[in-house]
Amino acid sequence: TIKDVRGEIVFKGVEFSYDNKRKALHEVNLTFKAGQTIALVGHTGSGKSTIVNLMSRFYDPTKGSVTLDGVDLRDLKLDDLRTNVSYVLQDTFIFAGTIMDNIRFGKPTATDEEVISAAKAIGAHSFIERLEEGYKTEVEEKGNVLSVGERQLLSFARALLADPKILILDEATASIDTETELTIQAGLKKLLHNRTAIMIAHRLSTIRDADHIIVLDHGEVMEAGAHDEL
Ligand code: ATP
Ligand code: MG
Repeated sequence: TIKDVRGEIVFKGVEFSYDNKRKALHEVNLTFKAGQTIALVGHTGSGKSTIVNLMSRFYDPTKGSVTLDGVDLRDLKLDDLRTNVSYVLQDTFIFAGTIMDNIRFGKPTATDEEVISAAKAIGAHSFIERLEEGYKTEVEEKGNVLSVGERQLLSFARALLADPKILILDEATASIDTETELTIQAGLKKLLHNRTAIMIAHRLSTIRDADHIIVLDHGEVMEAGAHDEL
């Protein structure tokens, strides 16, 4: 176990293949500094999801190592890793149940007050309050009660409640109206604060606001640096 996680992730000489034939990553050396927001960019198939899959230990490297605060992920208990590293998927995952339950999923021991306070912090409270049953509103997996933007806000509130040291975000590409977009940008800013955040970024604004940008191409790091250095 590691206490007081700072949240630095280092890839050292990482190679990876899903099928032992084609390499999805070649010799990747990268440092994700604690507290920074890092944007991963690159065209389809370049290795963005593979990088975050290795960080979450959905897979282990074929060669090289991935460390968290200097500890090889393979030497960490999976539970420890899961409490420190959370993943907000592009297709935000909503399950059948109340809005309260869906947010609380981030921290099952959270009180109603804590859930509401996370929703407020992220900017989801006002739309939830407008629903006839408020936090008790039942939603479905396919989420037909909620808009895409609202689903995103719920997943942000859930992640804020979980409060992981490392947050991985697969940015949605779906188009959202301008007003919701502003709420989402503000919520996102709040969510990224005070943790290491790795974003598979699609929007220019996200890329511009990142502390560090990593450009991948065919499983290799082409460029890395701050926006004004690239
Ligand atoms: P996208 O922008 O489309 O999400 P990506 O940058 O996330 O692309 P990856 O999913 O990391 O790309 O894919 C990197 C390489 O690994 C690609 O060549 C892809 O075909 C291959 N790949 C990805 N997932 C698998 C898998 N489950 N089995 C076999 N090959 C895979
Ligand atoms: Mg991907």
